[in-house]
Amino acid sequence: MAIRILPPEVASKIAAGEVVERPASVVKELLENALDAGARHIAIELLDGGKRLIRVSDDGIGIPSDEVELAFHRYATSKLSRIEDLTHITTLGFRGEALAAIAAVSRLTLITRAAGETAGTRLYLEAGQIMRREAIGAPQGTVVSVENLFYNVPARLKFLKQESTERGHVSALVSRYAMAYPQVRFVLTHGHQEVLHTTGSGNLYEVLGEVYGTEAASQMIAIETPQEPPRPDLPPIAISGYVGLPTLNRSSRSQIVLFVNGRWIQDANLTYAVVQAYHTMLMVGRYPVAVVMITLPPEEVDVNVHPTKAEVRFRRPDAVFSAVQHAVRHTLIRHAGVAPVRTELVWGSPEWAARRERLAQVTGEHLRQMGIDLTAESPGQFTHQAAPSEEGAAPAPAAVRRRNLPLLRVVGQVGATYIVAEGPSGLYLIDQHAAHERILYERFVAEHSAHAVATQELLEAIAIEVLPEQMALIEENLNVLHAVGFLVEPFGRNAVRLRGIPALVAGGDPVSVLLAVLGEIECGEMPTDATVEEKLIARVCKQAAVKAGQVLSYAEMEALIRQLEACQSPRTCPHGRPTMLHLSAEELARQFGRQGAI
Ligand code: ADP
Ligand code: MG
Repeated sequence: MAIRILPPEVASKIAAGEVVERPASVVKELLENALDAGARHIAIELLDGGKRLIRVSDDGIGIPSDEVELAFHRYATSKLSRIEDLTHITTLGFRGEALAAIAAVSRLTLITRAAGETAGTRLYLEAGQIMRREAIGAPQGTVVSVENLFYNVPARLKFLKQESTERGHVSALVSRYAMAYPQVRFVLTHGHQEVLHTTGSGNLYEVLGEVYGTEAASQMIAIETPQEPPRPDLPPIAISGYVGLPTLNRSSRSQIVLFVNGRWIQDANLTYAVVQAYHTMLMVGRYPVAVVMITLPPEEVDVNVHPTKAEVRFRRPDAVFSAVQHAVRHTLIRHAGVAPVRTELVWGSPEWAARRERLAQVTGEHLRQMGIDLTAESPGQFTHQAAPSEEGAAPAPAAVRRRNLPLLRVVGQVGATYIVAEGPSGLYLIDQHAAHERILYERFVAEHSAHAVATQELLEAIAIEVLPEQMALIEENLNVLHAVGFLVEPFGRNAVRLRGIPALVAGGDPVSVLLAVLGEIECGEMPTDATVEEKLIARVCKQAAVKAGQVLSYAEMEALIRQLEACQSPRTCPHGRPTMLHLSAEELARQFGRQGAI
């Protein structure tokens, strides 16, 4: 179909808006054009994170020479012409805006030769104005070079991030398209460095290996769509792709990737459908890796709802939800060896909780929930009650310091998880993991500020494949990583070499320590105002701390409590969760109905 300017009544129906926000949005529009043009081979080149140059070359059908100028008009498209077309869009683009919008904020060169034409055309535009047009020899296909993005819009230029960040966004984007179109060969280069290279063989599994690394890909299994559709009255919905085994998990949902009819989409509901399918297979706070392709008739999905086309609306969202959930769940269950993990620890029987509620209603007095006192936190509160005993005759300086915790006597351990202790005013339950995290954290922070972090060098450096986004994170945080004891350096494309890790975690698997720490920077549990250093340190300490489920000897528990007493903020772990619960003597008396008893 020839390029035409959409009639106003069609143009007004289009969800218009700003599409050019950063280099990755330019790459997205150009990639979509190349794919719509039937390209089998697409090369993407960046300089300076795309700020200096973005070039996308394809071997698609090209633009006929008499339509080249028209392509840069707003609402000029060859992909639809009538309002009815909007209800069953089969191309990635349809609103004829992208080229105009990109040209308006850059210096753009287009070289194209359409199938069947002998000469190609070269068009040069500045800020959307055509400056030059000439006929040149060119292979069939299209090359769009976008230079100096936002050179004429300083306000937006200012908002671009560091080169590595922009590059990370582009890599993530190209990776997604490479997964959606395994039959197309994608080559992404940054400067002279090749960042991604797929073969175009049509084999999705091969692309996964390229994008996630062979190690992660080996833990992914092909989605098997159940034979029976859930209900005969529902539209045909095919689900394909790959899902990670529960052992392959992440600290955020960002690795759940969804495509609808070849278009990458963001959809919180469908992401939830995938997460749900892993119910009881993953620990709380961990998320799967999944690449889910949804194919359904075009009239079942409205892609014209969002300017960047990243969100869609389904005619039957419930049907799509259950199709995704069924397919993923079915695949996981079919796969042997997937053991559900118990995630809840029940304390007190449900019957007792119900009975307590009833009692409270009957007496009209609302019994506070087990009397757990999280508010008693004023430091030194117990100073006078506590027996002042540091061994030795002369008072050691430590004995003079205000106590942040009362003196505690270890009674025992419950569930290999909590330490039971007695203090001057009742019973304390201490979460051994959280407490140890706190201890290690304060020690580590002190070492870090004294520039005395101990590093354990590895016997042999390890090369680790990482995702482009992770690569960007590492490059951005190299100094911080070094400062907390990670000897890590970029090592070719999408790989790093790890030569050492913080001594604190010397016993652990170095690769998972590094990946865990990256996950923390990206999307961690620390309060949002924490610095990157604090996040890294907290994550290392979490890794190094004694785990729940570890049986501790009496002496170990003693030592843990003594160290906790020495902390500045012993009552919370670095993530802000309590390290201990306090059941006061009065509360105990009240709960046992001894209050007022003689
Ligand atoms: P849309 O993709 O929504 O139609 P664009 O502004 O992105 O709008 O592109 C305008 C038109 O230019 C397209 O409809 C298509 O005909 C043509 N075009 C753009 N890029 C290419 C390409 N890489 N190969 C062939 N034709 C292209
Ligand atoms: Mg387009």
